[in-house]
Amino acid sequence: MPNSSPQAQKITLLGAGVAGLTTAVVLQEAGYQVNVCAREFSPHTTSDLAGAIWYPSHNAPVERTKNWGLSTLKELLRLYEEEGAEVTGIRLVKGVRHFFRQVGNPWWRESVPQFRILPESERAERARTSYEYTVPLIDMPHYLGRYLRNRLLKAGGTLTEKTFSTWEQALSESEATLVNCTGLGSFDLLQDKALYPVRGQVLESKSLQIDEFVLSADHPEGSIYVLPRRQGVILGGGSRSGVWDKQVDPAHAERTRRLAAMLSTKTGATDDWEMKVGLRPGRKQIRCERDDSAGKTVVHNYGHTGAGVTVSWGCAREVLSLLSVSPSH
Ligand SMILES: Cc1cc2nc3c(=O)[nH]c(=O)nc-3n(C[C@H](O)[C@H](O)[C@H](O)COP(=O)(O)OP(=O)(O)OC[C@H]3O[C@@H](n4cnc5c(N)ncnc54)[C@H](O)[C@@H]3O)c2cc1C
Repeated sequence: MPNSSPQAQKITLLGAGVAGLTTAVVLQEAGYQVNVCAREFSPHTTSDLAGAIWYPSHNAPVERTKNWGLSTLKELLRLYEEEGAEVTGIRLVKGVRHFFRQVGNPWWRESVPQFRILPESERAERARTSYEYTVPLIDMPHYLGRYLRNRLLKAGGTLTEKTFSTWEQALSESEATLVNCTGLGSFDLLQDKALYPVRGQVLESKSLQIDEFVLSADHPEGSIYVLPRRQGVILGGGSRSGVWDKQVDPAHAERTRRLAAMLSTKTGATDDWEMKVGLRPGRKQIRCERDDSAGKTVVHNYGHTGAGVTVSWGCAREVLSLLSVSPSH
């Protein structure tokens, strides 16, 4: 049952990564009064490090994740078309994904612009299947730190720098409705041991300019992605589950550079690479659910692993609909 009067209802929303800011925008624009509280804001969140390309992964719950991904794709395409890349930081980029085993058509084939299976003559060496398609690719520091932030503030939302040491503190210092978008932070905050880090190391060049993305998750020498940024290029791949270490690994960076140059030759033409490490909030099951057991209305939205950008609008809208249901239902 929809809430009869959400207009004045105050919400404390924890987290200012892509999950937190997207959810805050959706809730604030729906008439709630949202205060985003976070330890870090853009450009210092994990979300700022994301490539960030729309690509649905295999997170559970599978059907809901597919729907979240599709509705996010539609929204990103709409924002790009209506507001443009300059305002939003969202661009539409063409590229190729190579597979080194035989694969069929992806379930999302009809949803992305200009999907094409490449003939052998256009595939990378030894690739068995290659898709070419066009998808949203986002300049995250711009999208988070300017676009979503400004949209939230314009709608009347607020931002507060604040660290919560325990879940009890979060409950006691929040409004009657609390939305939790703390990503991997929920490992400590909620003692959610289903969460684990998925370490990702990226190399960023600001001088190199390429137009198309290249991805492969199953290249014989390891996974790799090459993603053009509005200004520059990001290389990544070879993520490591369960590793909390945020120190840069030069040997891994060298592997990434070599592999990238094999699939996207232009990337061999520079050496101004800056290395960064981020920990994805790994969880077999994305947690997007409501919990009224602590005497407050709590909605969790975290654990998106490597697809937090891809499912962001879908999950944010699910939070809105979870809040619109009365506790007895
Ligand atoms: C290298 C890399 C590449 C990626 N590429 C892609 C991609 O191409 N496409 C894609 O869809 N996804 C990608 N991802 C995954 C995506 O970045 C994550 O799924 C997403 O960033 C998770 O967002 P979040 O908002 O949940 O978490 P975060 O961005 O980590 O934000 C968490 C927020 O909670 C706050 N917080 C945490 N604990 C507390 C506390 N105790 N008190 C107060 N505040 C707290 C933090 O300060 C922060 O503001 C990539 C990730 C990495 C690391």
